[in-house]
Amino acid sequence: MEKPPLIWFNVILFSSTLLATLILVPWYQYAVGFDLLIIGCAVASLFFCGLSITAGYHRLWSHRTYQAHWSVRLVFAIGGAFAIQNSALHWSSDHRIHHKFVDNNDKDPYSAKRGFWYSHMGWMLRHYNIATYDDYSNVRDLQKDPIVMWQHKYYALLALLTNAGFILVLGWLTDAMLASLIAVGFTRLVLSHHFTFFINSWAHMWGNQPYTDKNTAKDNWLLAIFTHGEGYHNFHHIFEMDYRNGIKWYHYDPTKWLIVLLSWCGLTTKLRVTPQQKIEQAKLAMILQRTQQKLALRQDAEELKLKLLAEYEQLVAKLNQFYALRKQLFEDRKRQLLKEYDKTALKAQIKELKQAIELQRKDWLTLANFA
Ligand SMILES: [Zn+2]
Ligand SMILES: [Zn+2]
Repeated sequence: MEKPPLIWFNVILFSSTLLATLILVPWYQYAVGFDLLIIGCAVASLFFCGLSITAGYHRLWSHRTYQAHWSVRLVFAIGGAFAIQNSALHWSSDHRIHHKFVDNNDKDPYSAKRGFWYSHMGWMLRHYNIATYDDYSNVRDLQKDPIVMWQHKYYALLALLTNAGFILVLGWLTDAMLASLIAVGFTRLVLSHHFTFFINSWAHMWGNQPYTDKNTAKDNWLLAIFTHGEGYHNFHHIFEMDYRNGIKWYHYDPTKWLIVLLSWCGLTTKLRVTPQQKIEQAKLAMILQRTQQKLALRQDAEELKLKLLAEYEQLVAKLNQFYALRKQLFEDRKRQLLKEYDKTALKAQIKELKQAIELQRKDWLTLANFA
């Protein structure tokens, strides 16, 4: 099949900035040397671009996982243009198609099943999606956001102004125009591009699948470091309406921290989270499925298979009971129905159940590992 024509603008943009970075960074470091202020500004601008994409383009606009004050949206719109990753409207439209048709080579705009290169950046180098390029029917909600539409209309101008503006202002302030161009211009743009692209390539190829194996998305803590927390992509693909990607306290997810921090200032609201019960169920179901697959190869394991399933069902039943009780406690407390001794009794029951679940979970995992 003949390949569609090249998108020369993207080819030139990606290759010239990469080439400039690879040649100019070592040369300048050797000939003059970057001072700390310039390096600090480059890192700050990398975070500004990255977080505008992850917190703004991705978790706010593509998935509507929370709501944000206009001032926050304006900052994200400017940061997104600075990152040169197309308008928020276009990006979100592509991304919603990616989630809806993930791994479908004909429909997913950056299907990982077409290989690393294609999902990383190949898909942007040719007119693969020309037929649907201007179809924004899946982002009608975003078309009601005046900031999204303003950014979409003036995207090219904004991209030019932010890139030229930040480079010039910093160069003028530090009296090091060339260093500013190399560090905040080229290097920041190249890193910010590839870190985002990794989410479509790397995060669909290498890592774990603790929640689902129905698509190629993986959890990868190393990638989370480069992508402001977006490396927990397996979780994200099954629970895309959650404002978090890394759900544990020790998961590196600065995008989540930023959204929470802004909510403390009243600038973000309605942060959506997946019920813990659903997360636990997905995880247990995955372990069960893997163990059953392993056991299916063995003839002698009938008894073990049955035991595993029976204990799994008990565990899930207990978990459901636990969450139902907790919900009851929460709701009764809200309606102030509970007398003090009832509350204590209910709390004790929940605690006891939690301990029983932990014990049973341990036993069951031992059984699953043994199999
Ligand atoms: Zn997503
Ligand atoms: Zn994905």
